[in-house]
Amino acid sequence: MTEPNYEETATRLNRYDDVPSDILTHLVTRDGLCFWAFDRADVPELSGEASPDRELAARMCAGCPVIDECLELDLRTAGPDTVGVWGALPDTDRRALYPVWARRRGGEAR
Ligand code: SF4
Repeated sequence: MTEPNYEETATRLNRYDDVPSDILTHLVTRDGLCFWAFDRADVPELSGEASPDRELAARMCAGCPVIDECLELDLRTAGPDTVGVWGALPDTDRRALYPVWARRRGGEAR
């Protein structure tokens, strides 16, 4: 599986810039597939290898209606300390995305 385009993803997430985190939390916990359709505990551990982890994340989150909301929320709350699968991406991709996303929001990555 190819590496995500982090610039493109960060640009897409800009539409949530004005959305408060509590609204995002409400949407993700209400509509996120892993909050009602399956148990996150059943998801296999990430391997640390980019391609299989991307495939696992894509499979796990396929059809979830709040992928971008979930990704935005994770970038805000966990940032570079993120682990596991959120927003249809493995943690390695979200850590790479984080500084790109932070720069677009006018801040420096922490
Ligand atoms: S995008 Fe994935 S991790 Fe996030 S709520 Fe949906 S299923 Fe869960």
